[in-house]
Amino acid sequence: MDKFEFYNPTKLLFGKGQLSSLKKEIPAYGKRILLLYGGGSIKKSGLYDKVIQELKEIDAIVVELGGVEPNPRLTTVKKGINLIRENQLEFILAVGGGSVLDCAKAIAAGVPYDGDVWDFVLKKAIASSNSVPIGAVLTLAATGSEMNGNSVITNWEENEKKSFNSIHVYPRFSILDPELTFTVPRDQTVYGIVDIMSHVFEQYFHASSNAPLQERIGEAILHTVIETAPKLVNDLNNYEYREVMLLNGTLALNGLTSMGVKTDWATHYIEHAVSAVHDIPHGGGLAILFPRWMEHVAAVRPEKVAQLGVRVFDLDPAGKTDTQLAAEAIESLVKFWTSIGAPTKLSDYGIDDKEIELMTERAMLADQIGNYVPLTIEDVRKILRNSL
Ligand code: NAP
Ligand code: FE
Repeated sequence: MDKFEFYNPTKLLFGKGQLSSLKKEIPAYGKRILLLYGGGSIKKSGLYDKVIQELKEIDAIVVELGGVEPNPRLTTVKKGINLIRENQLEFILAVGGGSVLDCAKAIAAGVPYDGDVWDFVLKKAIASSNSVPIGAVLTLAATGSEMNGNSVITNWEENEKKSFNSIHVYPRFSILDPELTFTVPRDQTVYGIVDIMSHVFEQYFHASSNAPLQERIGEAILHTVIETAPKLVNDLNNYEYREVMLLNGTLALNGLTSMGVKTDWATHYIEHAVSAVHDIPHGGGLAILFPRWMEHVAAVRPEKVAQLGVRVFDLDPAGKTDTQLAAEAIESLVKFWTSIGAPTKLSDYGIDDKEIELMTERAMLADQIGNYVPLTIEDVRKILRNSL
């Protein structure tokens, strides 16, 4: 293991009816609130009215910003920063999926910063302890944004999707009520499942040694997702399946499995490049790219892909080489994702080879892409081509 520090300051409020905790949690941060939400699902589901009712009970002064896009945009972040400054707001309540939460984090960091908020993703600035405090009401199991410091933002005009990370933008609290995820449609539920598994993979394929516990925790999350997902996608209003998936999503990316290891993240970088150019759902992109990335990795270092096959997909290793096991593991993963309705090719989204160069170049904007197996520009181009 590498030397590490671990600190996760987010208070989780998990379970049925936890929305009523808002009145208990918010007043410590102030009553002037930016209420941030997405394109309308919370109005349709009735959650918006319930949140407003909670806020009324604490006499909150509420300024709203709705319309946060899936793959949230820099323009929306800037709107939020202006609203907070103009109205001297003290707290951000983010109600939605990962996109709303990520947008809240960029707004929070941007408010006390004099320069352009894009500087955070360019690593020209780091978020300060004066970042506006955030609380979250999560409506979709996927990103883990509810218990981490990551924010992924799209600069659509420049076709760039990039992230920053800071301890100062972790939600102070996150409310996770499985019932609030009942209305997530089947396709978004599947994208969430793929994202959760992908987060485990990005950490499982690490470049450090001696991390058996971290790997076993990752495998436990994968086992639980694989067990639950097929039941959930056929029974979207099942409380128990939603509950299990929600906790999986949080634990897959809250630092638990990345303690003391150098994680990979190449596939996320490539996916961000794809969705910066084509605006496809994050989980959909990952379902297409991850098997192709694993094929590339299996050709260089097959042993971990083989381990995944044996331990997670229950392959029998008797008489097989790591290369054979790795190939079967990838096949099992594709079979599983296909069985729950995930896409398999970029052409499923109408993407052809026209923009391969732009996507390759965008992916290479990262300082280094991949740690388990560092990728060259040719590798990225090949993975994208193989994904068409
Ligand atoms: P999302 O983009 O937040 O939401 C996807 C769609 O689901 C939206 O159309 C949203 O509609 C809808 N939705 C959300 N909750 C719903 C509900 N309860 N009922 C019905 N519809 C609902 O999805 P996400 O997968 O959570 O977030 C994706 C973003 O997070 C991407 O930009 C990705 O790159 C990023 N990401 C972040 C991290 C991180 O660590 N922070 C990790 C991985 C990915 P409305 O807009 O109408 O609400
Ligand atoms: Fe992700």
